[in-house]
Amino acid sequence: MKVLVPVKRVIDYNVKARVKPDQSGVDLANVKMSMNPFDEIAVEEAVRLVEGKEHHAAGTATEIVVVSIGPAQAQETIRTALAMGADRGVLIQSDSDLEPLAVAKVLQKVVEEEQPNLVLMGKQAIDGDNNAVGQMLAALLGWPQATFASKLVVAGDSAEVTREIDGGLQTLKVSLPAVVTTDLRLNTPRYASLPNIMKAKKKEIAMKAVADYGVDTAPRLKVLKVTEPPKRQAGVKVDNAADLVAKLRNEAGVL
Ligand code: AMP
Repeated sequence: MKVLVPVKRVIDYNVKARVKPDQSGVDLANVKMSMNPFDEIAVEEAVRLVEGKEHHAAGTATEIVVVSIGPAQAQETIRTALAMGADRGVLIQSDSDLEPLAVAKVLQKVVEEEQPNLVLMGKQAIDGDNNAVGQMLAALLGWPQATFASKLVVAGDSAEVTREIDGGLQTLKVSLPAVVTTDLRLNTPRYASLPNIMKAKKKEIAMKAVADYGVDTAPRLKVLKVTEPPKRQAGVKVDNAADLVAKLRNEAGVL
């Protein structure tokens, strides 16, 4: 089974984002960038499908291809995935941050070229918080989709996916090929070991450009403005429960 894992290079989750003074977006100059955390989870799960960790039989997956659409530096993101255990990468260079529909259209072409049995990807990129590409890709391909996976079991030509939904879990069976998007509790991604980082340097990354895929990536949306969240007001300390109740009643007006 061949698994395709789309990975995005995004602002690192530990970095506090700063909005540009003209409110046109987030300032990315000299900011630490990393693989989108949900994509790391997707890479980890794909590697477990190869290795046979937890409930996966060894060899369930036999090849992992990672693909990223982004600037030249996204090669580092692909190398990280290769060091975790993916086999080869494809970088589709783009200097602009494409909208979800454009990303999905390019990924559709990659799927047609690579013919994977499973596309395993993040539920959401933490920069734009779109939560859209997986769903759009499945629709464009006419494939089943199972989003927000917290457990994946592949059996023959289908997969059982447990999904995190409001107040509980839902288990779905999808026939393969399918698109599965990962949620936070699917697994804990590994740190690449030094020998594997060295090995990853020899793995192949094919260099492409968005134009090679001949899809319409023209923007459909216009960002009007990006603003900082409102600053939190300072809290107050209360001496006792009676004081708290009085403040809730008289000042906050919630009782
Ligand atoms: P989004 O719908 O933008 O929140 O992204 C959902 C998922 O789509 C991400 O977790 C990635 O797996 C994939 N994705 C989004 N943008 C890209 C990109 N530029 N390159 C590769 N994969 C992407």
